[in-house]
Amino acid sequence: MNETTMNQTVLISGGSVAGPALAYWLHRHGVTATIVERAPELRDGGYAVDFRGEALDVLDRMGLLQQIRALDTEMDDAALVDAEGRQYATLPAAVFAGDLEVLKGDLTRMLYEATRETTEYVFGDSITSLHQDDDGVLVTFEHAEPRRFDLVVGADGLHSRTRALAFGPEEEFVRHLGIYTAIFNLDNYLALQNTGRLYTAPGKAANIFTARANTEARAAFHFAAEDLEYDRRDPAAHKRIVAERFADEGWEVPRLLREMNAAQEFFFDANAQVEMDTYSAGRIVLLGDAGYCAGPTSGRGTSQALIGAYLLAGELATHHGDHATAFAAYEQQLRPYVSEHQALGREGAERFFLPAPTQEILDMLAANAPENTRTEPIRLPDYTTA
Ligand SMILES: Cc1cc2nc3c(=O)[nH]c(=O)nc-3n(C[C@H](O)[C@H](O)[C@H](O)COP(=O)(O)OP(=O)(O)OC[C@H]3O[C@@H](n4cnc5c(N)ncnc54)[C@H](O)[C@@H]3O)c2cc1C
Repeated sequence: MNETTMNQTVLISGGSVAGPALAYWLHRHGVTATIVERAPELRDGGYAVDFRGEALDVLDRMGLLQQIRALDTEMDDAALVDAEGRQYATLPAAVFAGDLEVLKGDLTRMLYEATRETTEYVFGDSITSLHQDDDGVLVTFEHAEPRRFDLVVGADGLHSRTRALAFGPEEEFVRHLGIYTAIFNLDNYLALQNTGRLYTAPGKAANIFTARANTEARAAFHFAAEDLEYDRRDPAAHKRIVAERFADEGWEVPRLLREMNAAQEFFFDANAQVEMDTYSAGRIVLLGDAGYCAGPTSGRGTSQALIGAYLLAGELATHHGDHATAFAAYEQQLRPYVSEHQALGREGAERFFLPAPTQEILDMLAANAPENTRTEPIRLPDYTTA
């Protein structure tokens, strides 16, 4: 380990998947990172995310593969239902659960537990400005006193503030995929066992899946729409938008809308991608969704976040604090992998709302199962000697 690397101070904005994974690998290379996370505390539960391919290798190298396997949602095939609740087809679990599926909150908690003693965590705060010079970045925060860091990493997701401050407004980089999604927690009132039910109508879909060993469930509404005007921080407004769209639908939709209105854990956003000409600007670099979100329809976002973190930390260690060379090497390795996933994300969005669900359409969906969508493998260098 080189002195320069060890002396680096790194601020990571965002403590979900990419941020803690980077903190883990920086520590392995001798650097203690600071994570600033806007949420006041860790969020439990959330929607399910899956891992594919080499992301499992990264978890293995982190010594976390066994732990993450223990959190597997262990989904069986799910059923498609019509407006009367009749099951007319089966959707293979591999299509929606990848190689391994966990609740995002469980993943975040596991990464937090693996890094809490070797990382400075600051919850309930956010960067407000970034001023970089030849020696570092002066960072101001909403609450904490200003501090200087050698490097700043934006791992703060699709609506990254780091990206906005260092690269420009969101509209320049975020491409809407034409789908909105709402997800919320509810009781497993249908008494489903490790499975889900999916309902589709033109331009709309609703579903419910079990969670946490069938003790809970997650339901989702998806609908097609071009850019909608709404306040991103107003869940009541989001719920109204969803309720209007699904007002006349059958199956369990009326009950699910009532459950949604009562839900405390509620997520609503556009499905979107982030397209950047470059992932870094001087001493500031983007990681995960903030820099190259491929969209939920790609099913690759957590994999990208984990692999990106591994490569970024490894390249910083390899180049002994020469951040410009390290950032370039990180981007060069990641970009083709991201491009493939972004193409998958766009294709997934195009076929998301299918006119009349037939076996032919289900076969099309099955094309999204891991064995059918293996993308070019990404090489994970061995950085243990860096
Ligand atoms: C509905 C849905 C389903 C998905 N399903 C899958 C799937 O099946 N498989 C898959 O691989 N991926 C899936 N994804 C994508 C996956 O969730 C993301 O790609 C992944 O979480 C990216 O991790 P990240 O750490 O880069 O960003 P995020 O998980 O978005 O985390 C960003 C973090 O930054 C914090 N933050 C935001 N702003 C600030 C700020 N100003 N200051 C400090 N902190 C801030 C946030 O609170 C959050 O903790 C899905 C996404 C959605 C929306």
